[in-house]
Amino acid sequence: MRQRKAVAAEELLQFLYLTPVGVVKFAADGAVDLMNPAATALLMPFAAGGDLGNLFVVMAALAPGLEQQVKAFRATSGSIVDQQWLEVPEGPETLILSLTVTRINRDVYMAVLSDVSRIAAQDRALFADREKFRAIFANVRDYAIYTIKVDGGIDEWNPSLERYAGWLADDVLGQSLAMFWREQGAEPRSVDDLLKEAQKTGSVNTEGWQLKRDGSRLWGDTVITALPDETAAIRGFVVVSRDMTERKRLDDALQRLATVDPLTGAFNRRHGDACLAAEFARRSRDNKSFALLMLDIDHFKAVNDRYGHASGGAVLNALTRVCRASLRSADTISRWGGEEFLLILPGADDSAAMVAAERVRAAVAATEVSTVDGTVLRFTVSIGVATPAGGDQADLIQRADAALYAAKADGRNRVKLSA
Ligand code: GH3
Ligand code: MG
Ligand code: MG
Repeated sequence: MRQRKAVAAEELLQFLYLTPVGVVKFAADGAVDLMNPAATALLMPFAAGGDLGNLFVVMAALAPGLEQQVKAFRATSGSIVDQQWLEVPEGPETLILSLTVTRINRDVYMAVLSDVSRIAAQDRALFADREKFRAIFANVRDYAIYTIKVDGGIDEWNPSLERYAGWLADDVLGQSLAMFWREQGAEPRSVDDLLKEAQKTGSVNTEGWQLKRDGSRLWGDTVITALPDETAAIRGFVVVSRDMTERKRLDDALQRLATVDPLTGAFNRRHGDACLAAEFARRSRDNKSFALLMLDIDHFKAVNDRYGHASGGAVLNALTRVCRASLRSADTISRWGGEEFLLILPGADDSAAMVAAERVRAAVAATEVSTVDGTVLRFTVSIGVATPAGGDQADLIQRADAALYAAKADGRNRVKLSA
């Protein structure tokens, strides 16, 4: 029994000698009874003349209050100092020791010392990073920066989200990212889709209308970046959205200027040409048919002569309005020349195109336009209809033109299908 106890004490001593943590056994007056190698290594630089005989003397500069604390401790056992960090200036680096002092019994005290410099440095770096992010979140303008979970649920709110779109923590926490795109119909890709791509490639970019808290919307440019953990598994995403509404407005205005006829609001000839080219491309790709309607106002010169140019403008406007009301939303109306319009009807064959053309013709004939001086006038149109028949774009236009000419020759206010 005694032998086993002796072996256990020997093992404990062995452990004390090998452990990387400094252990010091000392008495109430600071006299050191036992000091393991780790403690010796940590304290030696502070021992005057290499004397490690008294812990209070050795640590006088490191922990000036230590002797007082030990003496003031009344209980016969218990914790006196708990993991107190001691900063030791040491060249350009700062050594940081963690000190724990425990009273074991009336006569025995234990000090445990460890070098926590690295942990402290990591702690500081982490704190600095956190502060950096906090500063960014708190101060960015026109941006929202927040994190979401793997499933797209918003798990963090900060002031940038409120500044960006007015959202408060209670509105967004736990909600899906999709809430910003809800009912906008402008985000062509689902959140699931975007997150899948971000998982695969690291990050994904998307632009679209986003819902603001007040119900209005903003045009946002959003980057979603995957956040891998230390095992490279994705544990969430950082979302950065930028308010690009102003740029979007400018882009749209420029786009309008470049594609729209300012008098009637119909597309201009250049864009009409581009629409036609796009239909030809779609046709060869998807074998989708379409029809071309060439429309010209009858006796327009007479309208100008009788009512003046401004009234002529009112007629052009009325015509555009009537065409739009008589056609489908996918159909396009382009002002091809002065009073000549090109209508493109995707998906229409000859007979569907003839029905639509006749509908336009009748609607125009039934339309009344108020002239500048208040008199009411009526006008009519002639329409040539053609669908692609093996030829190119110029050929199709030429055939629609020929059909239009035939409609004029036949007495005007009528629709003709190209031969
Ligand atoms: P029809 O087509 O039935 O043969 O006779 P029309 O009188 O309409 O044909 P024409 O091509 O001879 O005349 C077209 C006229 O359209 C010439 C021009 O005075 C007028 N016009 C062209 N562009 C504009 C415009 O932007 N505004 C106005 N007010 N008139 C225009
Ligand atoms: Mg005309
Ligand atoms: Mg004409």
